[in-house]
Amino acid sequence: MLQLQDTDKNALRTEQARLQAEYDRFKAQGLSLNIARGKPSKEQLDLSMDLFTVLTPNSDMFSTDGIDVRNYGCLNGIEDARVLMGEYLETDKDHVIIFGGSSLSIMYDLVSKAMTRGILGSTPWAKLEKVKFLCPVPGYDRHFSVTESFGIEMINVPMTDDGPDMDLVERYVESDASVKGIWCVPKYSNPGGVVYSDETVRRFAALKPAAEDFRIFWDNAYMVHHLDPAHPKEILNILEECEKAGHPDLVYELASFSKITFPSNSISALAASTSNVEDVLNVMQNQIIGHNKISQLAHARYFKNMDGVRAHMAKHAAILKPKFDAVEEILSAELSGLGIATWSHPAGGYFVSFNTLPGLAKKVVAKMKEAGVTMTGAGATYPYKKDPEDSNIRIAPSFATLEEVREAIRIFAVVVKLVSIEKIME
Ligand code: PLP
Repeated sequence: MLQLQDTDKNALRTEQARLQAEYDRFKAQGLSLNIARGKPSKEQLDLSMDLFTVLTPNSDMFSTDGIDVRNYGCLNGIEDARVLMGEYLETDKDHVIIFGGSSLSIMYDLVSKAMTRGILGSTPWAKLEKVKFLCPVPGYDRHFSVTESFGIEMINVPMTDDGPDMDLVERYVESDASVKGIWCVPKYSNPGGVVYSDETVRRFAALKPAAEDFRIFWDNAYMVHHLDPAHPKEILNILEECEKAGHPDLVYELASFSKITFPSNSISALAASTSNVEDVLNVMQNQIIGHNKISQLAHARYFKNMDGVRAHMAKHAAILKPKFDAVEEILSAELSGLGIATWSHPAGGYFVSFNTLPGLAKKVVAKMKEAGVTMTGAGATYPYKKDPEDSNIRIAPSFATLEEVREAIRIFAVVVKLVSIEKIME
């Protein structure tokens, strides 16, 4: 197919007029669509309503380790929940602490504690002149806002198909003691859908940081969120690899059941080495008496084990896959071969990552807004909201209905073509 850049100017002008008319027709419809945030749809939330049936007024409210979940106590979480999360994160229950409804809040707390108290006896980061974090890009906006809120300098590290550029990661981490952490979403990354290769995981585990208190923030938010549960992608177990490499304390692994049951209302967990777990509990005891153990017990009894989780996730996939297929089908029919865009083809997670020609992402998102379609702000996938190329746009198809996703992506394809032709004509 002829790329738009090589098409003659008259033909482009005609196409531009046609697209403009099409865009105006969409605009006239007064639409109100939203493909901005990666939230489960109502249909997905309905899948978990039976969670409310596992605990009744007649239920035994004691955990297997004898804790009355209705009362205070149990800082690290009841055994039932630690066993389930241990199975989920492929580690022993003693390496797991259960938290409340948000893993993001654990990450914020870990950074906050490192700032004020330090990690395993090292100098609190707030007392240092400079603290830096590596940020694989494009990445998750809320990770970046955690580190930005503490004044931590963020350094972009480009993503490849195998994970972050590990040559760069090694160079920064091993030569600069002010580099204290890196944000990682190792499976079905937000937004690129990247699955870290075995080599990437091993290179992470083998890092020899210049800073003793450097930590990998391994946010395994999409561990079981496959779009095709018959062909799940697997990654190496980072805790095990770090242990094997002789660096057990290098990593904090995080996860939650936000996109399994109810976001903000489920359970979340930190998995880490014995020393890290002790260090975190030591600080936590000044902060809270225990997290929501009723939710912990309900989740453990509802799922029973990983087979229960997997069966449940297959139901999510059945709802999500048609939406991702619709995005792929429309983008590919409308934009393939034109030389104006690339996009990801995720096998799981919640996002499609889209790249326009340089300098067009903001324009596309603004024009979508004018047509009544809200998208994630352009730049949001980069630290400081600054995409140096102004080209990355995150598409989140989960929350809208299938028909709304189709409609939004049809408009999106028109807008991308229109602004690309305008640029080429310049
Ligand atoms: N981590 C990643 C990579 C995410 O994409 C999200 C939500 O979109 C979260 C964490 C939020 O997790 P939680 O609901 O457990 O705070």
